[in-house]
Parts: sequence; structure tokens; C-alpha cells
Amino acid sequence: MVTKKVLLIDDEPIALRLLEHQLFNLGLNEIRAYEKATRALNALEAGVNDVDLIFCDLQMPEMDGVEFVRHLARIGYNGGLVLISGHNLRVLQTAQRLAEAQHINILGVINKPSTPEQLLNYLDNSTSPAMPAPRSENTVEPADIERAIKAGELINYYQPKVAINTGELVGVEALARWRRPSDGLVYPDQFITVAEDNGLIDALTQSVLKTALKQARLWLDQGLDLHIAVNVSMDNLDNLDFADQVIALTSAAEVPPSKLVLEVTESRLMNDLVAPLDILTRLRLRHVGLSIDDFGTGHSSMAKLHDFPFSELKIDRSFVHRADSDDSLKSIVEASVNMAHRFNMTTVAEGVEDQSDWEYLRQAGCDIAQGFFIGKPMPADALGGWLGNWTVLRKTLINRMH
Ligand code: C2E
Ligand code: CA
Ligand code: CA
Repeated sequence: MVTKKVLLIDDEPIALRLLEHQLFNLGLNEIRAYEKATRALNALEAGVNDVDLIFCDLQMPEMDGVEFVRHLARIGYNGGLVLISGHNLRVLQTAQRLAEAQHINILGVINKPSTPEQLLNYLDNSTSPAMPAPRSENTVEPADIERAIKAGELINYYQPKVAINTGELVGVEALARWRRPSDGLVYPDQFITVAEDNGLIDALTQSVLKTALKQARLWLDQGLDLHIAVNVSMDNLDNLDFADQVIALTSAAEVPPSKLVLEVTESRLMNDLVAPLDILTRLRLRHVGLSIDDFGTGHSSMAKLHDFPFSELKIDRSFVHRADSDDSLKSIVEASVNMAHRFNMTTVAEGVEDQSDWEYLRQAGCDIAQGFFIGKPMPADALGGWLGNWTVLRKTLINRMH
């Protein structure tokens, strides 16, 4: 059965919003959320087969989960049920047996807080367009990339960057995708290196930049005051015209250069730093934001902070997720944040995957967060829907912090 319509019941608003948000990010958009089991029950009685899947909390005042399950059996609910609880697993398992005894199709139990991986187990895969598709095994030929760029098959996905203190959307990162007619969406790990190795990265970056700036203009016109970040590889920075080209593109798109951030990664060691230094300094003089990407990995190191006029430091996701429960990761994150602030740089944590990552980073004094917990990379036209959903969760998250 394809899971489409989902009903959530949890008396804790934050848990409810979080679950709703996670399911939304997994591609479900027909979600009804209730804080009271009685209301959910009324809705179900009006159309019991309008719902494919129910997530229900066990501990609730008024009507608890066990009583709710009894009513489900009475009204002949035949969709799936997942029970959730902050209690230990034994209570959940007992409740599960109770539901089975009443012939309810119980799919499983979840200990709060739920993770996207757990939720995914209970959803039909076909409802999860937001999850990365299986990556293609086909090798990519340089000529294919060249043709794809010319044919306009490269598209941008955008991933939100939000301020940790307020939850406010402050920017998006453009991430290249290749919509390949033969086999669907191809991810950058399949084509960026090939482009870099075959002299195609300049054309690729130009294409991504142009699309991103055009989109930024549309968002600015809609009143969304966003920074737009574009990835640049060090190989782009060997041509002294690069700074002028970027500035020309911003003015053609009528986007102030200060709205653009270039995220610079260095995948291989550069011997000659004169050209990159010239280019980045000139861009910074024009108020283009410069981010040192994947900080702490590869050649993205402290020496670069000293040499280049970066305005933003992006802590690599390998240090971010689960940092709160790992002392060595914590040291890395905190040292990065402190150092960045001494350089007057903004810090961005990428790979924020769950609420504990989020809360830890806030406490560590990081400025901006990006990751699956907040939102996955998405097509431009999905941003509005995401923003509506995030605005609700954001309020609950921020209220709880104050
Ligand atoms: P990156 O710059 O480090 O971009 C972040 C990557 O992390 C993205 O992968 C994004 O989908 C993924 N990500 C975001 N949040 C999370 C999270 O919470 N958990 C996990 N596990 N992953 C998360 P993506 O889109 O596959 O891009 C991979 C890399 O390809 C990028 O890494 C970037 O280095 C490169 N890339 C993408 N687009 C471009 C481009 O236009 N030009 C260049 N030169 N490189 C690009
Ligand atoms: Ca990046
Ligand atoms: Ca990274």
C-alpha cells in the first residue's frame, strides 16, 4: 500500500511538530496533526478509510494510546499504526501486543524522539521523493557533461541555511543536480570531479551561478531576503578573469554582490596561490561573501584562514552530527567556532541531522545551521512549502529555548 494520508497524535506540541516536519521532509504532504486523541478520533469516525497510517503517542492525558487503540478496533480502522513513546521499550512492546490482539495492523513502535530513518521504515518508498535516489552506477564521460551543460540539463537544488538563535531563514546553498534524460537525477559526486579533471568546471560553475542568481532575484522580488551560496572549486580560481565574470553575472541578474556567497573547497593542494588570492581579495572588496567549505578536512585548514579573506567558516558535517555525545567532535566544533569568531567570521554547521545536533550547536555559539533536520536540498519551487512548515516548527523550537 502506498502511504499518502497520515494522522499524528501527540499531546506534546514540540514532539508533534517535529514528527510532522520529519514526515514532510520525507515527502508526505497530507498530514493531519492532533494534540488530542478525542479530536483525532472524531475526524477518523467521519471517514475511517481516509487515513493510511497513524502515529500515536502512548502517554496522553484524557485519552491515552491504549484507549485510542481500543477505539480504532471498534470503528474498524484498517490502515497502519505506529506507537510512539518516551517510556521504555517494554511498555511499548506490551502496547503493541495489545493492539495485535485487537487485529490492528501495527507496523511498529518508536522510542521518542523519532529519527527520519525510523520513520522511513514505515513509509512506502514511493512516497519519499525527498530521499536521495539510488545513485547511478553509470560512469560519466566528460563529453556527456559538456553536452549536459549546453542542453541546460544541470539544475540547482537549494538547501536552507537558518540562524540558530532565531530559526530565521537567512540563505540557501545551491547544489548542482544533473537531470539526465536516460537515468534521472545524477548527484554531484558523480560529475564534479570529472568536470574538474577535464577542464569543464568553469563552464559548470558559470551555469550554476547564472541559475542561482536568476533564482535569487526572483526570491528577492518576493520579499525573501536571502543570501545565495554557490560552490566554487579552487580550479575555478586560476583564471584571473573569474572575479570580473562573477561581478558581471551579479549585475546582469540585478543581484547585489553582497547577496552572493562563494563556498570554496580545495580538494587538491594548490601550489600557486597568487591567482586565488588576487581573485578572492577582489571579490571580497566587492562585498561577495567568501566561505571556507568543509573546514577541517583535506586542505581546508587553518593556514587558509590566515591567507585568505574568508567571511564565513563552514564546519564539515563529519564533525557536526552527534557532536553532543562525542567529546573529540565537541572540541573540534568549539575550537572552530571560537577561531572563526576571532577572525570575525560567521560560522555555519552543515549536516545538522537531528534536534540534539541543533541544540548542541546553539549552545556552542554557532551562528547558522544547515542540514536534513532543517531541510533537504530541494527544487526552487519547493522552498515556499518548506518555509511554511519550518515556520511552525521554528516557533516551537525557539520558544522552548527561551
Ligand atoms: P558540500 O558543499 O559539502 O555540500 C553539502 C552536501 O551535504 C550536499 O550534498 C548535501 O546534500 C549534503 N547534506 C546536507 N545536509 C546534510 C545532512 O544533514 N546530512 C548529510 N549526511 N548530508 C547532508 P550534495 O548535494 O550531494 O553535494 C556534494 C558535494 O558536491 C558538495 O558538498 C559540493 O562540494 C559539491 N558540489 C555540489 N554542487 C556543486 C557545484 O555547483 N560546484 C562545485 N564545484 N561543487 C559542487
Ligand atoms: Ca558547500
Ligand atoms: Ca561538506
